[in-house]
Amino acid sequence: QVPLKPGRSLMDWIRLTKSGKDLTGLKGRLIEVTENELAKHNKKEDCWICIRGFVYNVTPYMEYHPGGEDELMKAAGTDGTDLFDQVHRWVNYESMLKECLVGRMAVKPLAAPKETSSTLSEEKKQLNGVLPEKKILGASAKDLTPSYDWFQTDSLVTIVIYTKQKVMNAELVIVDCQDKQLRGEIIVDDHSYLVEVDLDHAVQEDLAVNIAEKIGKVEIILKKKDSIHWKMLGQPLEGHNTFIKCTDRGLFYRKCKLVSKTEVTHDTKLFCLMLPKSTHLRVPTGHHVYLKQIIAGTEVVKPYTPVLPFLLLDFKEQSHHDGAHIYLMIKIYSCGLFTQALDRLQIGDYISVSNPEGNFKKSQVETSEDLFLLAAGTGFTPMVKLLNFALTEASCLRTVKLIFFNKTEDDILWRNHLEQLALKDERFEVQFILSQPMKDWVGKQGKISSSLLSEFVKRSRRDSKVLICICGPTPFTEQGIQYLKDLGYSQEEIHAFTA
Ligand code: FAD
Ligand code: NAD
Repeated sequence: QVPLKPGRSLMDWIRLTKSGKDLTGLKGRLIEVTENELAKHNKKEDCWICIRGFVYNVTPYMEYHPGGEDELMKAAGTDGTDLFDQVHRWVNYESMLKECLVGRMAVKPLAAPKETSSTLSEEKKQLNGVLPEKKILGASAKDLTPSYDWFQTDSLVTIVIYTKQKVMNAELVIVDCQDKQLRGEIIVDDHSYLVEVDLDHAVQEDLAVNIAEKIGKVEIILKKKDSIHWKMLGQPLEGHNTFIKCTDRGLFYRKCKLVSKTEVTHDTKLFCLMLPKSTHLRVPTGHHVYLKQIIAGTEVVKPYTPVLPFLLLDFKEQSHHDGAHIYLMIKIYSCGLFTQALDRLQIGDYISVSNPEGNFKKSQVETSEDLFLLAAGTGFTPMVKLLNFALTEASCLRTVKLIFFNKTEDDILWRNHLEQLALKDERFEVQFILSQPMKDWVGKQGKISSSLLSEFVKRSRRDSKVLICICGPTPFTEQGIQYLKDLGYSQEEIHAFTA
């Protein structure tokens, strides 16, 4: 992220797109763009980019791009799909850039067969608007492709998915059923298998998911609305029975109801969202979701990391900790576009929540002896589930330390919970460091530094296995990683939470 000039915020961009100004220079005309034509528009003052076969004139957007002009220029006059997917696949560019749409890439005849295996022709196909949706899998990968079957009784329809995986769990299965449209997704490593059908008949709102973890069988059980015999499961939808890379699958959203909103600090709130009855979704530890709202007519998407309702689960009744609710701890920025709109939501209102994303693996913790967590501000959010998991399920761990950086004492999130947890579990220790303390603060002060870290991240034994997790503002995370490397920690010992 780069600092944007005043008057160049996302809201300013939305205003510009609504102003009626001709942002493409084509007076609303859509044209077919050839590769040669696209390549000509490769300068800051005249920049076109192709994303998934659609060409945008991003010249007017340059100064508004949160990643900076140079980042955008990397794709100038070319197909920016891959670059876009790497950096911000979740940004809904269709909505953000709709006024910049120049047209579609001209579709060329398919490449000759001998060329198809080369990377070059693969790129060409994308450029010509035919993004290879299904990446062709090799023979061995094909054997791993899950399959499905279905059967019915008078009252139930059961879809059985054979994942061919020896370890399956509830976090790898995401099911939604909205208006007869059933979508069941199974995550297998970095691939996604989808059952997506328009059901033959209506079903009741609540569905059940059974997982036979050891044999990798997943059952989705639907209750028929009327007890009639179904001739077929339904009509296949676009992604039905496909097995593709997760990153090639678009984000799927469902509307969740805001059921409570409680204060955590002066500017941070805990939002409790209820998933629809017809959704099965568990957000894995260390993963985030995207929230989507329509702000001034434009879809805006931002990532948030679900937490638990509280840290010391066994101290309180386990209300709402049942998989049906998602808790988000969100700081409301006084000039924040998304968080201001979130704060205006009333209890009972709905907001769109995506499938989870992230690259953290719990197994990284399971094999560690020392776990060090470095958090700054709301960078604390991924540490919540992680702490819970570490202290309740990771039996190898001898020490778990959290070093928590904040501006002032009032900014510390869940200070009480953390201090109580440290009293309750002797493996856990917490330290608060303030960058703008009041005079009466007797604890440590300052920002992340090499000397602070060298003292904090000490192995409990000379050769103990360590995992260090870090999350906060980008400069904090980047500096932290550098200091840790300078202190001799390897890339494998460090996990940074980022988008
Ligand atoms: P904007 O309109 O984008 O910015 C307005 C002003 O707010 C800025 O000028 C700046 O002063 C301040 N501001 C905005 N964003 C940041 C930032 N990222 N760092 C520092 N200052 C900023 N936030 C949470 O509160 N809880 C979470 O659980 C959470 N999880 C996240 C997970 C991931 C993977 C990532 C990448 C970010 C996460 N964030 C989280 C940040 C969140 O996505 C938004 O960036 C944040 O809510 C601000 O959005 P906004 O539209 O209100 O602010
Ligand atoms: P903040 O502005 O309140 O700052 C908290 C502390 O961070 C400061 O006291 C300071 O110690 C440190 N810090 C801030 N800026 C720094 C800098 N430039 N260099 C070194 N240290 C710095 O923080 P906030 O407003 O709560 O922001 C939290 C950040 O965490 C946001 O940027 C958010 O996007 C990010 N976040 C990321 C994820 C994720 O990637 N998974 C999850 C949650 C939050």
